[in-house]
Amino acid sequence: MIYTSTRDKSIGVSASEAIAKGISSEGGLFVPTEIPTLSLDDIKRIGTLDYIGRAKEVLKLFLTDFTEEELDMCVNGAYKKGKFSSDKVAPLYKLNDKENILELWRGPTCAFKDMALQLLPYLLTVSAGKTLKDTKIVILVATSGDTGKAALEGFKDVPNTEILVFYPVDGVSPMQKLQMATQEGNNVSVCAIRGNFDDAQSGVKAIFTNKEIEKKFKENNLAFSSANSINWGRLVPQIVYYVSAYCDMVENGSLKLGEEMNVVVPTGNFGNILAAYYAKEMGVPIKKLICASNSNNVLTDFLKSGTYNKNRDFYCTASPSMDILISSNLERLLFILSGYDAEKTAEYMRELSVDGKYSVDSDLYKKISDLFDAGYCDDNATKATINEVFKKYDYLCDTHTAVAVNVYEEYTKRTGDDTPTVIASTANPYKFSASVLSAITDDIKSKDEFSMVEELFEKSKEPVPPQLATLKGKAPRFTRVSDKEDMAQVVFDMLGI
Ligand SMILES: *Cc1c(COP(=O)(O)O)cnc(C)c1O
Repeated sequence: MIYTSTRDKSIGVSASEAIAKGISSEGGLFVPTEIPTLSLDDIKRIGTLDYIGRAKEVLKLFLTDFTEEELDMCVNGAYKKGKFSSDKVAPLYKLNDKENILELWRGPTCAFKDMALQLLPYLLTVSAGKTLKDTKIVILVATSGDTGKAALEGFKDVPNTEILVFYPVDGVSPMQKLQMATQEGNNVSVCAIRGNFDDAQSGVKAIFTNKEIEKKFKENNLAFSSANSINWGRLVPQIVYYVSAYCDMVENGSLKLGEEMNVVVPTGNFGNILAAYYAKEMGVPIKKLICASNSNNVLTDFLKSGTYNKNRDFYCTASPSMDILISSNLERLLFILSGYDAEKTAEYMRELSVDGKYSVDSDLYKKISDLFDAGYCDDNATKATINEVFKKYDYLCDTHTAVAVNVYEEYTKRTGDDTPTVIASTANPYKFSASVLSAITDDIKSKDEFSMVEELFEKSKEPVPPQLATLKGKAPRFTRVSDKEDMAQVVFDMLGI
């Protein structure tokens, strides 16, 4: 399978090259030039396998230059027994006849990013072994909170790699900050920046595509890669759980094989929902892809109008991992749905960087609006939804998941569509204890993060993940805060070059 760039159609690389590089040198994203398909018989057969087996079946269709042994090693390592708090890895929780919660946060850092970031280090080291001999890989990450920790955990002490995470100093929850600041490992570093997630992401992209830095890296036998969802190696593992969820919907009796389901995804960078789009194009019977946003509703407006406009206020919300105004992976969707038109995609992205906005043409918009529905809700509605779901079903969901549930319920009221639905649940509620606790009670006694965790446990009886509970009292290891203009210097300092 050949991968090309969303901004230059003349580029053609293998899966390993796409993963090792992370982003194409002219700034485009790597995309496979075709989408492999699964028949209903294939899906039926995949449904008989465990998560590791399901992952191999899906991944081998995309990672065609990996040998079977390599893929086995990667997948067995990533999802081995004991790493995830469910033997099913990504279990489905049936809320009622229609709504099924896909719990993607059972991994080591309690957010859905683990689903991909437990696998990516394996994929990346195998890829680098094929394409970049004797080179150390430097992973740069911009995070809105969850990617950072999941990437640090995935890459810690992986030979021949260094990882550096940038997060917005005021843009993550106290638990997220503590998770990152206390990270262990000999090849890890973390730095807060004065700015928001978009600043962090733009800063990282600028470092990736800076020719002088590239030269300096070459001289030191270093190469960049990315653990953000701009890297195909981050995206492809996410396709697996939508295939798996469909199999589980059939298994739990919500659907008969071949019947359609809807998928709702709480969205920020458009990576998770793009993976669901891939699953649909592969042949998984998915009717609508419903994109849920918080008050940073740039995607809702885009999906409802065809105009993407990031010139608007930025809000720090109770669902901080979705506080994003530049959704990078939308570029891949525009490229695919415009018939793999790199010139058109590059032009939209140029308009975005110059004017902060673009409008897609009517053909492209028609395709997008046939596939996607969208909605958003603010923090009050998010908390009301957490409360309602807890009271009605005795199920505690986090703020991001609640945004998705709220948008889904608004969607069914508006459309009358009662297709059985999978709602992606992206984080464990204890990552956002203050918001979740305030959603289920008016009477909060605690002042600090960990007494809130305990209070939330008292009220909900939901088990606290041990990896969060043991952070209590742990001293931070990383405290550096830098200006966004100085990100390159932070990288050099970490590497001593
Ligand atoms: C990253 C994240 C999201 C957004 O996912 P995208 O792939 O960026 O759209 C949603 N919820 C949580 C908890 C996250 O960590």
